[in-house]
Amino acid sequence: MVVVCIDGGDPAYIRQGLRDGFIPNIERFMKQGFSAIADGTVPSFTCPNNMSIITGTPASRHGISGNFYLDVRTGEAVVMTGPELLRGDTILSQFADAGAKVVSITAKDKLRKQLGKNLDVSKGNISFSSECAGRCTLKENGIENVLELVGMAQPGMYSMELSLFVLEAGIKLLERDRPDLLYLSLTDYVQHKHAPEEPEARRFYLAIDRCFGRLEKLGAVVALTADHGMNDKSDAAGKPNVIWLQDVLDARFGKGDTRVICPITDAFVAHHGALGGFVRVWCTGKATPRQVIETIHGISGIESVMDKAGACRAFELPPDREADVVVISAAHVCIGASEAAHDLSGLAGHRLRTHGGVAEAKVPFILSEPLNDEYKLKAGVSTLKSYQVFEYALNGW
Ligand SMILES: [Zn+2]
Repeated sequence: MVVVCIDGGDPAYIRQGLRDGFIPNIERFMKQGFSAIADGTVPSFTCPNNMSIITGTPASRHGISGNFYLDVRTGEAVVMTGPELLRGDTILSQFADAGAKVVSITAKDKLRKQLGKNLDVSKGNISFSSECAGRCTLKENGIENVLELVGMAQPGMYSMELSLFVLEAGIKLLERDRPDLLYLSLTDYVQHKHAPEEPEARRFYLAIDRCFGRLEKLGAVVALTADHGMNDKSDAAGKPNVIWLQDVLDARFGKGDTRVICPITDAFVAHHGALGGFVRVWCTGKATPRQVIETIHGISGIESVMDKAGACRAFELPPDREADVVVISAAHVCIGASEAAHDLSGLAGHRLRTHGGVAEAKVPFILSEPLNDEYKLKAGVSTLKSYQVFEYALNGW
């Protein structure tokens, strides 16, 4: 069983591929197996959704509700990638404990430790990232000499090869070791940079589709999903539609009274400038959550603004890591902190494409094999062919 998380794999890319005929393997899976549009976790970011996929639980249970949160005791923004922050166990480690051979490969190293939580790599299980492929050791990763095995050079952080390396490594390990369960998590560099109709996106989907076909040929059941979608968030002139929320709040309450955290942030932000569709506001001074909500409410481009309790209820989020106020933007708008704190030079003339809100929480859910009767009932697709459901969900009923 191979589960692939196509990072940033908005259903629009699949639709484009189906229309233009450059994803024949995915198309075959959709016809012979199962496909639907699924609801991802909100905030529609990488870490929360990868954790929901590998634990089968909402963020209220697994605890990873963003890529960053504010530790109110220290006032520090804490990156949420440590395995100690992930609550409970993963499906991967449970399978391994039950005797299955498990492989977990991710593009960026930030996810590796959580994906590999409690996975015993001394017993034939494997966990590594493309980012650090050249430095794998038996002790840390359960594998060494990965570059030789895969037959590719160490890929750059801003490249489609970072994702292709993950898939190629999965194929080589499936050939060599026949593991029972593989989780392959890609990176969304291409989707941040290129819309579905652009040639680079087409080239990427053509390449990953070929890999999916090879995985199936090797005998695997292939499951494809995504952590989140992606939306264009620039205006007609190509300028990003940004609400600089920290600047808005500072103008109203003064500096230091509120703290806006953009939980999309990691160390590699050149392709999105740390701008997303979901931000958190902590009230660190006199301003109350109600005053903050009243200030934000009605700003054009804001889809919703809610207090901690409302956000935790609506999106099944862990209250102890939630801010006082949660702000979500509409599909074609994003939210930043302070204009001066974001570096947009990395966009280098590209339109801003990013994610984080409810508008980017729809993801594909495709299996190379049909569902059994029990799951058919759960999915409620007894009368329509599953790929028809997918098309309808994209185009409206
Ligand atoms: Zn992602």
